Amino acid sequence: MHIIPTLTPAAMSRWIRMTDQGKELVLGSIFCGSCETGLGIRDATGELHPYGDIILYGYCPDCGGKVCRVIGTGETMGRAEEFP
Ligand SMILES: [Zn+2]
Repeated sequence: MHIIPTLTPAAMSRWIRMTDQGKELVLGSIFCGSCETGLGIRDATGELHPYGDIILYGYCPDCGGKVCRVIGTGETMGRAEEFP
Protein backbone atom coordinates (compact mmCIF):
# COMPACT_ATOMS: atom_id res chain seq x y z
CA MET A 1 0.00 0.00 0.00
CA HIS A 2 1.38 3.38 -0.90
CA ILE A 3 -0.80 6.30 0.06
CA ILE A 4 0.21 9.90 0.45
CA PRO A 5 -2.50 11.74 2.34
CA THR A 6 -3.35 15.35 1.58
CA LEU A 7 -2.14 17.13 4.67
CA THR A 8 -1.92 20.67 5.94
CA PRO A 9 1.68 21.95 5.93
CA ALA A 10 1.92 21.55 9.70
CA ALA A 11 0.70 17.96 9.58
CA MET A 12 2.92 17.18 6.58
CA SER A 13 6.00 18.41 8.42
CA ARG A 14 5.38 15.64 10.93
CA TRP A 15 4.23 13.03 8.44
CA ILE A 16 7.52 13.22 6.55
CA ARG A 17 9.39 12.56 9.79
CA MET A 18 7.62 9.23 10.28
CA THR A 19 9.28 6.09 8.99
CA ASP A 20 7.79 4.35 5.95
CA GLN A 21 7.14 1.38 8.19
CA GLY A 22 5.28 3.55 10.67
CA LYS A 23 3.16 5.11 7.93
CA GLU A 24 2.19 1.75 6.47
CA LEU A 25 1.38 0.41 9.90
CA VAL A 26 -0.95 3.33 10.56
CA LEU A 27 -2.59 3.39 7.15
CA GLY A 28 -3.08 -0.35 7.04
CA SER A 29 -4.70 -0.59 10.45
CA ILE A 30 -7.55 1.88 10.09
CA PHE A 31 -10.70 0.06 11.04
CA CYS A 32 -14.07 0.93 9.51
CA GLY A 33 -16.95 1.20 11.96
CA SER A 34 -19.54 1.04 9.19
CA CYS A 35 -18.79 -2.31 7.55
CA GLU A 36 -16.59 -3.57 10.42
CA THR A 37 -14.22 -5.26 8.02
CA GLY A 38 -12.45 -2.55 6.04
CA LEU A 39 -8.86 -1.93 7.00
CA GLY A 40 -7.26 1.00 5.31
CA ILE A 41 -8.17 4.41 4.02
CA ARG A 42 -8.64 6.18 0.71
CA ASP A 43 -8.86 9.87 -0.19
CA ALA A 44 -7.05 10.59 3.04
CA THR A 45 -6.73 14.15 4.25
CA GLY A 46 -5.32 15.31 7.54
CA GLU A 47 -4.48 18.14 9.85
CA LEU A 48 -2.45 18.69 12.97
CA HIS A 49 -4.12 18.71 16.35
CA PRO A 50 -2.87 21.36 18.83
CA TYR A 51 -1.44 18.56 20.96
CA GLY A 52 0.73 17.52 18.05
CA ASP A 53 -1.16 14.51 16.79
CA ILE A 54 -1.95 14.09 13.11
CA ILE A 55 -5.64 13.50 12.55
CA LEU A 56 -6.45 11.65 9.33
CA TYR A 57 -9.86 11.66 7.71
CA GLY A 58 -10.88 9.54 4.77
CA TYR A 59 -13.07 6.78 3.49
CA CYS A 60 -13.18 3.03 3.88
CA PRO A 61 -11.75 1.31 0.80
CA ASP A 62 -14.45 -1.37 1.03
CA CYS A 63 -17.75 0.36 1.79
CA GLY A 64 -16.90 4.05 1.42
CA GLY A 65 -17.88 4.84 5.00
CA LYS A 66 -16.13 7.68 6.75
CA VAL A 67 -13.10 6.73 8.80
CA CYS A 68 -10.85 8.75 11.06
CA ARG A 69 -7.53 7.99 12.67
CA VAL A 70 -5.42 9.84 15.19
CA ILE A 71 -1.69 9.30 14.82
CA GLY A 72 0.09 9.84 18.11
CA THR A 73 2.83 12.10 16.79
CA GLY A 74 2.24 14.45 19.72
CA GLU A 75 3.64 11.81 21.99
CA THR A 76 6.85 11.34 20.04
CA MET A 77 7.34 14.81 18.54
CA GLY A 78 5.75 17.10 21.13
CA ARG A 79 3.02 19.68 20.85
CA ALA A 80 2.45 21.64 17.68
CA GLU A 81 4.78 24.64 17.41
CA GLU A 82 2.07 26.92 16.13
CA PHE A 83 -0.06 26.30 19.22
CA PRO A 84 2.33 27.11 22.06
ZN1 LIG B 1 -16.23 0.01 5.55
